Amino acid sequence: MQKIIITGGAGYIGSHTAVALQQAGFQVVVIDNLSNSSVLSLDGVARITGTHPLFAQVDCTDLESMRAVFEQHSDSVGVIHFAALKAVGESVEQPLLYYRNNLDGLINVLTCMSEFKIPNIVFSSSATVYGVPSVLPVTEETPLQPATSPYGQTKVIGESIIRDTVAANAGLNATLLRYFNPIGAHPSGLIGERPNGVPNNLMPYITQTAAGIRPILRVFGNDYDTPDGYCVRDYIDVNDLAMAHVAALRHMLDGATGVSTFNLGTGRGYSVMELINAFRDATGVDVPYEIVARRAGDVPAIWADASLAGRVLNWHADTPLSETLSSAWLWQQNSEK
Ligand code: NAD
Ligand code: UDP
Repeated sequence: MQKIIITGGAGYIGSHTAVALQQAGFQVVVIDNLSNSSVLSLDGVARITGTHPLFAQVDCTDLESMRAVFEQHSDSVGVIHFAALKAVGESVEQPLLYYRNNLDGLINVLTCMSEFKIPNIVFSSSATVYGVPSVLPVTEETPLQPATSPYGQTKVIGESIIRDTVAANAGLNATLLRYFNPIGAHPSGLIGERPNGVPNNLMPYITQTAAGIRPILRVFGNDYDTPDGYCVRDYIDVNDLAMAHVAALRHMLDGATGVSTFNLGTGRGYSVMELINAFRDATGVDVPYEIVARRAGDVPAIWADASLAGRVLNWHADTPLSETLSSAWLWQQNSEK
């Protein structure tokens, strides 16, 4: 069995990827400091797959503790580095926290990979690296723009750190995955997104409002230069996203060298209002909403050209939106129990 280390594996995308990796026959070692997650998600992974991932509660910024885990698992064939703080607003208020956590963590991962000769890394990047794109959809060739938040900057800089490290190190290969907007949960309802406090993101805000936890969804702006005036995003099912990590890893294990970069989206944009309506159609639940002012820093519209991942990784996001929204709702209902 090939062993994979996943940092941030107790989190939202990491736990779904742990399921996909275990179901694909990999042995999974999770490193997580549980700053934004709980071990319950790994229990969920175990209930779905029949196997509990190995787990080390370690902070990626603690190099000595990271070395100890990497030494123990130096037979790993790759690392998927999810661990990061991700709240855009918080990153504006506490930039050093974000730079330290996200960049020291990445540098320590790369240091340990080099010391223990682990050859392949998959990095969680984001569509945020494209800033406000002038041409849609965005391809991997679309020029990157300075990010609008310290969080976004950690992704732009993180990509550069990886490119420079691979260029200097013939034994290291990397895949940069630029996620668009991951939503939904595992169809079992056993794992899903656990936002800390009031959600910043649209999908958990919709499900929490549907559940009556929040009184009303605030829709940020209806005067954008888009077909219906609402912001447009490319919402990708988290299980499809998880499968892309397996495909990216296999691509490197099959011999791809250097740095590869892929957009991970559906290739289709939905407006905020389209998503609210699709949620009602999928679940039968009406979400009360009000239109409020635009949110500072929001990109009016962005969606992916994900055809490169289709061609090279033979990966497609094919879960219908209605299934994704139903899984999000099932998870919301289960997580209240
Ligand atoms: P998440 O918060 O659910 O998961 C991140 C995990 O990393 C958490 O379990 C947290 O406890 C852990 N972590 C954070 N800092 C750590 C550290 N220093 N040491 C050890 N563990 C640490 O977030 P997610 O949505 O699953 O995001 C995973 C990755 O994908 C992140 O890198 C994020 O920036 C990126 N990403 C997410 C989205 C999204 O919308 N969810 C979009 C684009 C990119
Ligand atoms: N959004 C909204 N109300 C909310 C949260 C988000 O109208 O409570 C909108 C937001 O303006 C954006 C879209 O939903 O147009 C997606 O926002 P999210 O924060 O989920 O993702 P991101 O902006 O990072 O792409």
